Amino acid sequence: MGCIFCKIIEKKLPAKIIYEDDIALAFEDLNPQAPVHTLVIPKKHISTNLDIHEEDKGLIGYLFQIANRIAMDKGIAERGFRLVMNCNPESGQTVFHIHLHVLGGRRMHWPPG
Ligand code: AMP
Ligand code: ZN
Repeated sequence: MGCIFCKIIEKKLPAKIIYEDDIALAFEDLNPQAPVHTLVIPKKHISTNLDIHEEDKGLIGYLFQIANRIAMDKGIAERGFRLVMNCNPESGQTVFHIHLHVLGGRRMHWPPG
């Protein structure tokens, strides 16, 4: 299918993995936009958040729990951090396997660019 995040899950592409279990994976973004920039992905291939269905409800909550744990472990939870999931090209989505960006360690701007 040519999905790069599926290749990372299958260990066919290297990544700096910081968390893994049967359901999800977290790894450092290759091109970080903040001092903390980690991606949290489900092992199930879901192309965009428009493809999240009833059976994925628990999975999505689980991704947020992992993101929270990463923010706590990296010491940015209290200061503040941002979770981002882009959807489709105009948002900036470039990898079509859903991922939560965990961004922090610097002041975030609003509105986002
Ligand atoms: P998005 O633009 O929301 O689809 O985010 C895709 C993110 O994946 C970008 O922040 C990229 O820097 C990141 N990325 C792309 N390829 C890799 C890779 N092989 N390893 C880690 N991060 C990647
Ligand atoms: Zn995939």
